[in-house]
Amino acid sequence: MIDYHLHVIAHGDRPMTVENILEYLEVAKSRGLRQMGITEHDRYLDEIDLAAFQEAREMYQDVELRLGIEIDFVPGAEERMDRDGSALPYDYVIGSVHRVTGEEIDHPEHREIYEKMETYELYEAYYKNVREAALSGRFEILGHPDLIKIFRTFPDRDITPMLEETADAIAESGVVVDVNAAGLRKPIGEVYPSRQFLEMFHRRGVPIVLSSDAHAADQVAMGYEKSMKLVHDVGYREVVTFKDRERGTLSLRPE
Ligand SMILES: [Zn+2]
Ligand SMILES: [Zn+2]
Repeated sequence: MIDYHLHVIAHGDRPMTVENILEYLEVAKSRGLRQMGITEHDRYLDEIDLAAFQEAREMYQDVELRLGIEIDFVPGAEERMDRDGSALPYDYVIGSVHRVTGEEIDHPEHREIYEKMETYELYEAYYKNVREAALSGRFEILGHPDLIKIFRTFPDRDITPMLEETADAIAESGVVVDVNAAGLRKPIGEVYPSRQFLEMFHRRGVPIVLSSDAHAADQVAMGYEKSMKLVHDVGYREVVTFKDRERGTLSLRPE
């Protein structure tokens, strides 16, 4: 299996040294991963040590290492996104929506946006950004596509049409969806995307990758029993892989 979205530097928690990368790879190996992709937040771009990454990749043969980046999608910040998205020899680029009207939606201590905006309107603004991110053509992968559910704040109106419209845009864009187990460690307690949203993707033939969004070595492939079962139940039999921006596939389970 693969873990295609995780952070070694995380939020400045540790430097990207060969030793730190190897610690992640050891966990990846012990949990049966074939490939692991490091995707730091783009604001830590300057701290990515490409030489250390390349050394670890050559030293460690048991799990193939990939390099990506997680770009914080903000409409109007095209120049920054283009610069960060082409700064290094990435295998793939993830685009993630973490903000609505410039404010973070997933920060446990800064949830002001949830007070300021009516919940349905907040969801509309969030999913509009998600559609724009997908259709921007900047990214191979769309990160955690329903992050807005993180704190269990739900509108009282049905959001099914909003999700359908978003799934249509994602299918049209050709972007791959990140099935991200980090939600299991958050108040929502479920994988991103929800089963309902994932079913919409499957019906439209949208491919997926799997990830833990680990911010520490012991979180690599964490929650995979649940996310593997979810994607299999929904009907997925393979995940997408990337090398030098070229797409491949890997079977979910040898059958
Ligand atoms: Zn993210
Ligand atoms: Zn992330």
